[in-house]
Amino acid sequence: MLVILGCGESGMGAALLAHKLGIPIFVSDAGSIREDFRKQLIDLEIDFEENEHKIIFDFLPTLVVKSPGISDRSEVIQYYLQNSIDVISEIEFAFMHCKGKIIAITGSNGKTTTTNLIFHILKTAKYSVSKVGNVGYSFARSLSEAEFDYYVIEVSSFQLDTIKSFRPFIAIILNITPDHLDRYEYKFENYVNSKFKIALNQNNDNHIILYRDKTIIDNYRTFELRSTIHWVQSELNHQDEIIINEQQGPSLKYSVLKGRHNAMNVSCSVIASQILGIDNNVVQLAIDSFKNDPHRLEYVASIEGVDYINDSKATNVDSVYWALDAMKSKIVWIAGGQDKGNNYSVILPLIQEKVKTLVALGVNNQKLIDFFSPYIPVLDTHSMTECVEQCMNIASSGDKVLLSPACASFDLFKNYQDRGDQFKNAVINLKETRL
Ligand code: ADP
Repeated sequence: MLVILGCGESGMGAALLAHKLGIPIFVSDAGSIREDFRKQLIDLEIDFEENEHKIIFDFLPTLVVKSPGISDRSEVIQYYLQNSIDVISEIEFAFMHCKGKIIAITGSNGKTTTTNLIFHILKTAKYSVSKVGNVGYSFARSLSEAEFDYYVIEVSSFQLDTIKSFRPFIAIILNITPDHLDRYEYKFENYVNSKFKIALNQNNDNHIILYRDKTIIDNYRTFELRSTIHWVQSELNHQDEIIINEQQGPSLKYSVLKGRHNAMNVSCSVIASQILGIDNNVVQLAIDSFKNDPHRLEYVASIEGVDYINDSKATNVDSVYWALDAMKSKIVWIAGGQDKGNNYSVILPLIQEKVKTLVALGVNNQKLIDFFSPYIPVLDTHSMTECVEQCMNIASSGDKVLLSPACASFDLFKNYQDRGDQFKNAVINLKETRL
């Protein structure tokens, strides 16, 4: 009997795959299960419990698949570990039943962008490919529906924590900056090692693509990499063209993705495509026609010479750093929300150089006000409409208004998408009143 803990997208995917394979399962969720998922479980006659873990304490399963949100310290995981029952993640479970080649992408920032781009390149090259993982569609669900030659997977460190045999053909670690440290005993090295688990089972027939920052890798990694390593470097020239690995590698003429951080994402994607034997012209074609998901440095509109940019997905300080780095004009910067223990000093030089005014947006903006007001003017706002109106009053032609909050959105909004959508609506409404 297989126990599946948590019935969100990954748990449901695991249940569907196990069902297809004829493996007996029991699903247990400590909260309530989504209406459509509950109906699916009932239709497929899969046994489950919700709102508490109870029945699962009555028997010992052979294997447990847990959702990434469940901590190893939770009572139920401790119970299984004490009874020597294997606890794995959904991607590990899916991997055990997958015949296709895997391209797995992790990192603190840029995962979704890079996953989308590699998927788009493989599609353009007419490969049989599925895009799965944190992007919203679970690996196991995809396997339960159809088989593909390639799987492009966005993997979070939480999923990597319970890796046993997962072995991607190509692994990519985009960057590692402090995030989610609460899950890693506040030790950066634990977080780094969790990311490196992506390569734990690789051998030299497999590839790992690493971006530049060798110090982190040398200082914190605790196991030897047996994979074939590809170090990637890239620069933007004056025409904003991306030059990858200057001497040896290809250079790309143009990318619709702006900023040095996206140059990293694009370069890693290009190297992965080369490993897969995709012609450079096809890669270029794909990059030129790529459209990223919204809320990532997304251009919204221009009002009286001021560009409004939605980077609501920037929920940590590092992503704000790169957003500011990508801007060439003066910025009215919107930030705030739920603080995850942010250290703003790393972005202070860029703020002093580029930001005209900070418009703080959150239930409580005191931390931002205290930190930044000695250096730049800070306004205190508590709703998106009020915030965008203030931005409009301050910005002059040629400036950019940038929503790049550095914080989670849950104080004033449902999630980062809701925050970005409210921003876009407020800007469009304002534009209409000015016409
Ligand atoms: P993730 O899936 O890792 O959260 P996204 O592609 O959704 O990454 O981007 C999240 C935020 O990080 C956006 O604000 C985006 O502009 C920024 N970002 C994208 N790529 C990088 C990168 N390589 N380094 C730092 N920040 C990045």
